[in-house]
Amino acid sequence: MSESPKTKFVTAGRDKKWTNGVVNPPVQRASTIVFDTVAEKQQATINRANKTLFYGRRGTNTHFAFQDAMTEIEGGAGCALYPCGTAAISNAILSFVETGDHILMVDTCYEPTRDFCDTIMKKMGVETTYYNPTIGDGIRELIKPNTKILFLESPGSITMEVQDVPTLSKIAHEQDIIVMLDNTWGAGVNFSPFDFGVDISIQAATKYIVGHSDVMLGTAVASEKYWPPLREQSYLMGQCVSPDDAYLGLRGIRTLDVRLRQHAENSLKVAKWLQSRPEVDHVRHPALETCPGHEFFERDFTGGNGLFSFVLKSSYSKATTALLDGMKHFSMGYSWGGFESLILANEPKSFNSLRTVANPNFEGTLIRLHIGLEDTDDLIADLEAGFARYNALILEKEATA
Ligand SMILES: *Cc1c(COP(=O)(O)O)cnc(C)c1O
Repeated sequence: MSESPKTKFVTAGRDKKWTNGVVNPPVQRASTIVFDTVAEKQQATINRANKTLFYGRRGTNTHFAFQDAMTEIEGGAGCALYPCGTAAISNAILSFVETGDHILMVDTCYEPTRDFCDTIMKKMGVETTYYNPTIGDGIRELIKPNTKILFLESPGSITMEVQDVPTLSKIAHEQDIIVMLDNTWGAGVNFSPFDFGVDISIQAATKYIVGHSDVMLGTAVASEKYWPPLREQSYLMGQCVSPDDAYLGLRGIRTLDVRLRQHAENSLKVAKWLQSRPEVDHVRHPALETCPGHEFFERDFTGGNGLFSFVLKSSYSKATTALLDGMKHFSMGYSWGGFESLILANEPKSFNSLRTVANPNFEGTLIRLHIGLEDTDDLIADLEAGFARYNALILEKEATA
């Protein structure tokens, strides 16, 4: 009988080699690893890329346990660790491009991913074309002879468009283009990247893997073909993380599945309540039909999480400010994936710099929510009070118009 995927969140990475017989692997700190004989040192050198203690930058048993766990939950042949998600993205890209190459980047990518392409890639002579997240088959027309990477992020940052990953991967592979996915939203639970043709799956482990808003961490899990070059190039660029951070990433995996299920249940409840609100134009939650690409969510994902957006009918910023300023349970703050609820607003004009080809041209302000593990009745009451503050200012404006 094959094991339920849920079980692997408990068992992944817990090889006795790393744990030394306790439940969690000890935090093993090291720069220098010492050898007693020439033969031992030679053995370590030969196996240095293969989870053998060699030198701190290659990792210790704590790192090896976390790397094993990531490949067990996401698939793939190996996992490179980075000090944050942004480093994982930039190093994965840098490991495979050279001057004269071309990248196809989804227009709804995380903002620093766009900035990296527009500055460092540009400076290196690597060209970027942004494509619409819902392009599907149309990606064919954007492929050039020098296209090296097709980069996806699904759902997209802020506007939440879900991509047709298998179709895009299939077309890319016809031309030997490397498919990279920012899989932070899927979190290694809800979307199996290697089943859908992804070659390198990247996560800001800062988000749900760590899950407690207290560690910066990035991961990139690669297929058999791309694992050796990713590992060696990232190593040359000096990418490594503290064993304490690797430990906390691994510990987060133990509760990842249960946390995500609760985040998903809570967020769907809040999203459905928002759909009934007269202030709301539409809700962009992948599990709801009003989210672009919802059909791909239904087809390819096994569940959701706490992060989604909704668009207000109005873009009156004084009213939005009144809504945001008085919240009790929702704090304003970057990042997401912790146990706590967060709220951020994007006015329509903000998309002029965030999008090249897929500006949604909203009339109203977009609000992004991260729904935490609080009781949803408390969260809904908080939003309801926020709408009362919001409506008072909308009415005031209408009265003076
Ligand atoms: C936060 C985030 C990142 C960057 O992760 P950091 O650890 O903050 O550098 C990358 N991609 C997505 C989708 C994110 O939300």
